[in-house]
Amino acid sequence: RKKRLLRKLEDACESAQTAGSSSADFPWSKELEQNLKNTFQLSKFRPLQQKAVNLSMSGKDLFLVMPTGRGKSLCYQLPAVCSEGFTLVVTPLVSLMEDQLMYLKSIHVEAATLNASSTKEHAKMVLAGMTDTKAPFKLLYVTPEKIAKSKLLMSRLEKAYNAGRLSRIAVDEVHCCSQWGHDFRPDYKLLGILKRQFPKVPLLGLTATATSSVLKDCQKILCVPEPITLTASFNRTNLYYEVRFKNSNSEESIGDIASLIEERYQGQSGIVYVFSQKDADSVSEDLQKKGINAYPYHANMAPEDKSRVHRKWSTNKIQVVVATVAFGMGIDKSDVRFVIHHTISKSIENYYQESGRAGRDDQPADCIVYFGFNDIFRISTMVVMENVGQKKLLTMVEYCQNVDRCRRSVMAVHFDEVWDDEGCNEMCDVCRHESSFFSYTGFYVGSLFLIVELASSLDEKLTPLKVTEAWMGKGPAKRRKMIQTTILSRLEVEAIITHLLLQGYLSEDFSFTPYTTYFYLKLGRKASLLKNQSHSVTMKMRKTVSNTDRLSVIADQQVKVSQVKTKEGKRSGDNTANSSVTKKVKKDL
Ligand code: ADP
Ligand code: MG
Ligand code: ZN
Repeated sequence: RKKRLLRKLEDACESAQTAGSSSADFPWSKELEQNLKNTFQLSKFRPLQQKAVNLSMSGKDLFLVMPTGRGKSLCYQLPAVCSEGFTLVVTPLVSLMEDQLMYLKSIHVEAATLNASSTKEHAKMVLAGMTDTKAPFKLLYVTPEKIAKSKLLMSRLEKAYNAGRLSRIAVDEVHCCSQWGHDFRPDYKLLGILKRQFPKVPLLGLTATATSSVLKDCQKILCVPEPITLTASFNRTNLYYEVRFKNSNSEESIGDIASLIEERYQGQSGIVYVFSQKDADSVSEDLQKKGINAYPYHANMAPEDKSRVHRKWSTNKIQVVVATVAFGMGIDKSDVRFVIHHTISKSIENYYQESGRAGRDDQPADCIVYFGFNDIFRISTMVVMENVGQKKLLTMVEYCQNVDRCRRSVMAVHFDEVWDDEGCNEMCDVCRHESSFFSYTGFYVGSLFLIVELASSLDEKLTPLKVTEAWMGKGPAKRRKMIQTTILSRLEVEAIITHLLLQGYLSEDFSFTPYTTYFYLKLGRKASLLKNQSHSVTMKMRKTVSNTDRLSVIADQQVKVSQVKTKEGKRSGDNTANSSVTKKVKKDL
């Protein structure tokens, strides 16, 4: 009977999908429909929700990958309300738990939590409720630490299981299980005990960003034999993605951000993400000086100040929040029209999530990131302790450095999604300003390597800044004499060094003091290849006013440049040059 039911389920889901209807008919369909409307006060399911709910109701283990804000919670809350007993929900943060509890209370769904701050009496009441046939709650939220540490909780869960009262297990932010996920939490590693002890209870793992290898890892850790994975497309068609260069003079980028807010986003709500608490204060102050209604938000503020800023922004009394990533969890404002990153994120997954707070109402919104050379190293030293921190950071750097591939296609690679370039619809700067870049082949970077090599032979460490300046002829005189300097601009030199770092010709070399971590550059694993004359560096670089003008000079001096046909940009006020230079410059070394 179960088999028949399953087949029917899959057929129905399929036909429901193709027909775009919600006519699937199961024993539980009526109850779901009623609760969706009456309890949750929602008129219809969003894509994938219905399928997920039906699969879970039929007892299947399920991994649901769906971008933040699309409604993953409903996929276990609705089944919980429509089932006997209660659903155990594992959530990483107490604050997330409290948000959910508040929401559930407001729609009159009984829920309880057990976490480190629960009082003894409260815990006692909850533990007793777990086997109470009068079912005092439909959802029980716990932290993974509780599962790992509380034998009492495990014993009550076992009792509830034996009494048939544990109806479902939901593991929110399931990627936290895997070291390869972007937010590994050690206690999540122990959650496999749930499925081992309670094999008959269907498990639902939820996440916004997990690659298939991360999911495989989670599956193993959670001891789920054969879960069905449902993946919603990562593609947010209404978001416009853009990367802007930020030079070392930060005033310029602040000025740029200020005029964007004043002109393009006048009267519209947005977020400016910054690197540190200090930046949050200083950038918001700078914006305020320019007459913009901006306020800072970071973890170190008093709780009441944080919630005041959040509240005022939510009700449009503050236009812009200048925030660290502490501003994120629990933000549910639908009409955010722009998310500007004053500093790059620490990974492409983080960027996707942070920028994805724009346009939740499905109306057009912009995601702009300012890409500065020095920021790479600031973040690099911050994530130095994380296992795959550097690797992940470089994915973000690659996203920014990229000048010729659709931004969405770069993201698609990270989310393991097959991508069709038609899907962007000129909603990224690369697609909109097609071919506004130069292709450099046969790059001569020998002298740059000499600088790094020389330093290491002298046992001297070079910061990226020192390497840049030395190559530009601004270093100490003793070196300048021996080394041929470049006439490339600072931005160009920075782009080349970044490229060499991404490609493994250069690599990072950290040094720790009790107070801070320093980032130095050393020769990378591929550096020796450059000594081989036939091996040259090829890279693409964005066209700017300055490099277009000096192109022929640069070509004479040290590179072979093939200029790509220019197509005029379509968006006015763009900061990449729509140059009129079209002559082909090609010169052999
Ligand atoms: P996620 O966990 O995927 O980030 P949430 O479950 O927190 O997202 O839901 C985000 C928002 O979407 C919530 O305000 C929720 O009420 C709303 N939502 C969920 N499902 C629907 C739906 N079917 N129709 C309209 N709004 C929905
Ligand atoms: Mg969620
Ligand atoms: Zn594109």
